[in-house]
Amino acid sequence: MSRLVIISNRVAVPKARGAAGAQGGLAGALNSALKKFGGIWFGWSGEESSETTGHIQLQTDDGVTTATIDLSETDIEEYYNGYANSTLWPLFHYRLDLTEYENETGRGYERVNETFANSVAPLIDPDDLIWVHDYHLLPLGERLRSHGAKNRIGFFLHTPWPPARLFVSLPYHERLVRTMLEYDVIGFQTGEWLGSFLHYCEKELGAEVDESTGRIAFEDKETFARAYPIGVDWDHIQTQGKTKEAKNAEQRVIDSTRNRIAMIGVDRLDYSKGLPERIDGISRFFDQNPDRTRDLVFIQIAPPSREDVDSYQKIRAELEQKTGQINGARSEVDLVPIRYVNKGHSLAELCGFYRASKICLVTPLRDGMNLVAKEYVAAQDPEDPGVLILSQFAGAAHQLTEAVLVNPHSPDNLARAIRTALDMPLEERKRRYEALVKTVREDDIHGWTNNFMRDLRELGAQ
Ligand code: UDP
Repeated sequence: MSRLVIISNRVAVPKARGAAGAQGGLAGALNSALKKFGGIWFGWSGEESSETTGHIQLQTDDGVTTATIDLSETDIEEYYNGYANSTLWPLFHYRLDLTEYENETGRGYERVNETFANSVAPLIDPDDLIWVHDYHLLPLGERLRSHGAKNRIGFFLHTPWPPARLFVSLPYHERLVRTMLEYDVIGFQTGEWLGSFLHYCEKELGAEVDESTGRIAFEDKETFARAYPIGVDWDHIQTQGKTKEAKNAEQRVIDSTRNRIAMIGVDRLDYSKGLPERIDGISRFFDQNPDRTRDLVFIQIAPPSREDVDSYQKIRAELEQKTGQINGARSEVDLVPIRYVNKGHSLAELCGFYRASKICLVTPLRDGMNLVAKEYVAAQDPEDPGVLILSQFAGAAHQLTEAVLVNPHSPDNLARAIRTALDMPLEERKRRYEALVKTVREDDIHGWTNNFMRDLRELGAQ
């Protein structure tokens, strides 16, 4: 049986040096795949060193081996804060207004991809399966090939892929996509992002594309691109939801909201999540429904993210200003309509918060998938489920069609959806929940891992 080599910007095993923290669904599923097949998880340690040496720190814990390298300040600035998070992230979320086009950071990105390839190549055995993750590492497959890797190499993009007419604004866009065609399999979250990629390959590169199989033939290469919508770890959420931590968290929300309805949002503080627009929608709801003003408490969990990037500092300031304004205008001695919590919580705590909240607002302006939407559904009480309000622009909206779907740009639309959720009879809540839960439970993270790995082994293999 082939081993598995996972490569991502950061490794997320429980005790890895500088691990990204919470063992989310993705980390858990990749860890169980690593335990099953054996292999390694390679990535950046999250640590800064005086120079990038490519020296690997190896560590084995609980049957999973991680290999990490440190990066220099310049590499972190150009590769991570620069090209990955100031160019590709905004561009892939359709935000040309925030996209920075600097050749220097582009060179840093290529350099770090080469460092990754150079460091990991000696650890790869000839029949290992290699699975590369996300927008930080688009050209890595091609770099690995240049180091002689003839392995099956797959890539999964966790973000959207933008329409071709936006993507072509990226200098050297063609060079970047050509490198991607060195992968054997490329996975996207939804058919929409997949469609944009295939369209680009056909129109801009002149590749031969078969939409029914996802086969892309270009020069002497063959790649398969397909949609694999990522899911949550259903069993893990059920277990976490039963912990003391979850029960305490649930009780804290219930006690502190008393006879008001708790409405929750859980998002990294990122401009793609539509947070100021969400506050505008809530404010509109209060304007239009003066009789309901005392019925609702909105809790926004928003852990800080990518704080060294300018656009993230701006979105934080904007959100804080808006929250302050609406609370200033609407608070009473015994009522603060919006609770803004600028820190992260464990999955167990989130499960408690989700269960205590009768409405969840997931309103990104653009999102590859959005796992919070699925977690909220998985954490509900089947006898008294809450209502999910979901942006039509989240990848999850392709699957969770029984949510209350909204256009997050429209405050009126958001306000109406909140009113609909508040007034929704139990019977309708249950009907929608049952449809949602079926999808969330059936298409969970383990199915996602298995499907991708099956295709990586088989598609186009001689
Ligand atoms: N999350 C968490 N603690 C928090 C806030 C979020 O563990 O305080 C987790 C959340 O449970 C979810 C993930 O972070 O699994 C966010 O994933 P999503 O797809 O919604 O958005 P992303 O942050 O990847 O853009």
